Amino acid sequence: MTDTKSRMLICSECYEPALLKSPREWTPAWGPLPPYSHWDGDPLCAVMTRDGYRSAEPKLVELP
Ligand SMILES: [Zn+2]
Repeated sequence: MTDTKSRMLICSECYEPALLKSPREWTPAWGPLPPYSHWDGDPLCAVMTRDGYRSAEPKLVELP
């Protein structure tokens, strides 16, 4: 018996898998380099904040 649950990071906007890895391409005009990216290396989806567009925060989800 095991109680080890798999967890994964997903983009909170598009629900695509996310990685704890900076995006492959980033423009400093978009703000500080985020520590997360989509699984394919693209930045997480842009969300409008008070500071302008920023990369979405990832969510940690538990797999069944
Ligand atoms: Zn996304």
